[in-house]
Amino acid sequence: MNAAPRTGRGGVCVLASFMYDLVATAPRRPGPGETLIGSHFATFVGGKGFNQAVAAARAGAATTVIGRVGDDPFAAEFREFLAGEGIAAADVRTDPEHGTGVGLPVLDPAGQNSIIVIPRANLAVTVADVEAARERIESAAVLLLQLELPMDATVHAARIARAAGVRVLLNPAPAATVPTELADAVDVLIPNEGELRQLTGADAGQPVLDVARRALTGRTHALIVTLGPDGALVLEPGRPEVHVPGHRVDVVDTIGAGDAFCGSLGARLAAGDVLTEAVAFANAAAAVAVTRRGGAPSAPTRAEVLELAG
Ligand code: ADP
Repeated sequence: MNAAPRTGRGGVCVLASFMYDLVATAPRRPGPGETLIGSHFATFVGGKGFNQAVAAARAGAATTVIGRVGDDPFAAEFREFLAGEGIAAADVRTDPEHGTGVGLPVLDPAGQNSIIVIPRANLAVTVADVEAARERIESAAVLLLQLELPMDATVHAARIARAAGVRVLLNPAPAATVPTELADAVDVLIPNEGELRQLTGADAGQPVLDVARRALTGRTHALIVTLGPDGALVLEPGRPEVHVPGHRVDVVDTIGAGDAFCGSLGARLAAGDVLTEAVAFANAAAAVAVTRRGGAPSAPTRAEVLELAG
C-alpha cells in the first residue's frame, strides 16, 4: 500500500533529477563494432535529486519533488517509487517529447564502471516549471539542489527559496564550478572532497582543511565537506571548525553515500537541528547506506540511523 504524501509547512523540497540506470556487467568493455555477451543485467531508479529526496523522506521529512520525467515505463516506475515513499510528486511533469533520463553503466569484473548518461527530460526542466512550483518551495523549510538540472532553473529555485526565508542546500555534484549567482543564494554548500577541489581549483596535494577554509573566505554560507570513511568537516563563518568522524562499518557499496548524506541532512535541518547535530545524523545515515547495495534503495530510515548512532 502507498503512503499518503505528507503536506503542510516545513519539510524538504528537492529540485530533482531522475535517471533510470540500466546496468550491464560484462567481462570487459566492448571495442569498436564489437558485440559482447554480458553476464548480468539490473535496473535501478536513481538520479542525485531523486536519491536525496528518498533519503530525506526516510529520515522523516515531509518531502516534495520538482522535476521532469518522460511518458514511458521508466517514469511509471519512478512515480510508483515516490508514492511508496510518501513523497509528493505533483510538480514532477510528464514530458512526452524527451523521455525519462537514463544511465547506461557497464561494469567489468574488476568493478570498474564506465557510464553513458543521457539526461533527456532532466535537461528540459525550465524556469517556468520552477515558477509553477513556487508555492511548494516557499512552504518548505529546506530546498535541496544539485547540479544535474539546467542552471537557470536551479538559480531560480534558489532565489525563490532565499526570498521566502527557506534554507538553501546545494550539493555541487556532479563536480562543476558554481556560478556566483547560485553561490550567493546558498546557505549550506555540501561538496565531497573531489568536488571541493574542483570548485576551488586546488590540487590533490593541498590539505583539505586548508582548501575548505579558503573556499569559505569572503562567503557567508556554511560549508560541509564529506570525507568518505573519515566523516565530514563543518565550517561556519565565525564558529570553530568541527570534524565529525566517520563510522566504522562493513562497506558493501558506496554509490549514493553522498545522496544519503545530503537528503538526511536536509531532513534534520528541516526538523530544527543545529548544523553540527544534523551533520552527525547525516554521517550515520550515509554510513548505514554504504552497508547496502544501490542508490536510493540503500537510504535508511530514522530508526535505523539512531540504532547505529546510539
Ligand atoms: P560521495 O558519495 O558524494 O562521493 P563521500 O564519499 O564523501 O561522498 O561520502 C559521503 C558520506 O558517506 C561521508 O561523509 C560519510 O558520512 C559516508 N561514507 C562514505 N563512505 C563511507 C565509508 N566507507 N564508511 C563509513 N561512512 C562512509
